[in-house]
Amino acid sequence: MKWLLGFLALCCSAALFPFGGIARAAGTVPVAVSIPPQKYFVEKIGGRWVAVSVMVEPGANPHNYEPKPQQMIQLAAAKIYFAVGDPFEKVWLRKFAAANPAMLIVNTEQGIRKLPMDSHGHGEEAPRHGKSGKKEAIPEGLDPHVWLSPPLVMLQARNILDAFLRVDPEHRSDYEANYARWVTEIVQLDLYLLEKLSRRDVPREFMVFHPSWGYFAGAYGLKQLSVEVEGKEPKAAELKELIRHAKERNIRSVFVQPQFSGATAKVIAEAVGGRVVMADPLAEDWDRNLREMGDKLSAALP
Ligand code: ZN
Repeated sequence: MKWLLGFLALCCSAALFPFGGIARAAGTVPVAVSIPPQKYFVEKIGGRWVAVSVMVEPGANPHNYEPKPQQMIQLAAAKIYFAVGDPFEKVWLRKFAAANPAMLIVNTEQGIRKLPMDSHGHGEEAPRHGKSGKKEAIPEGLDPHVWLSPPLVMLQARNILDAFLRVDPEHRSDYEANYARWVTEIVQLDLYLLEKLSRRDVPREFMVFHPSWGYFAGAYGLKQLSVEVEGKEPKAAELKELIRHAKERNIRSVFVQPQFSGATAKVIAEAVGGRVVMADPLAEDWDRNLREMGDKLSAALP
């Protein structure tokens, strides 16, 4: 409970810094989100009326996240928490709510039917692929990476809009206009990716170290093949099978993300005479990031 002590100790300074030290203009709504792409989402709709604080900082792995005392201060001032359904929220949302009972907690993934993790049975259990040897029991088995599919983000956009209308009805017309504009952008992104990636024949496969791209793949007729098995490095026999499969299907690229080690991906890429490609599922510049993913995949697909 180190964070709690830090939180109490720093409580008084919160009065001096209205939003945890983040300067914000008068009249803006302080909100918190779990991961960087959500900052993009919330700013798209909140526009100039929102000040966003991100819990999982760029480059960090959300699945083994713990808040810093400074972030608990930001949370104490937040009017809305936009959750996305990442496993760490199972542990921390309750504590966030206790630290700030007046804060509206919005499950932006509400209305999305989550799918099981891919065929390799990767269950999204936070501590398994983390470095902090801590045990937090979150055996869910459902894929949490809903922010990477444009059609699913349209649903999240709607939930985000509803929250702003509820908390700050005064600026309703701005929020609605921002929402409408952003939905148009999402449709354009979706069309770009459809054109880049979709083919009418059998689903094409790509290999990825941590299976973050399941919903993205599903939206564009692709199939992701996970190197991780249930959140762990593959065993020797599993690795051999992955290499055999990749050779058979002519899969040459192995996608990795900065939050996880790419060592095994490199072994596979070398074995199939291919290469490792970086793709970050947590990049804040969401639209550009997904376009780049589309370009990389389009170049890599067999
Ligand atoms: Zn993940």
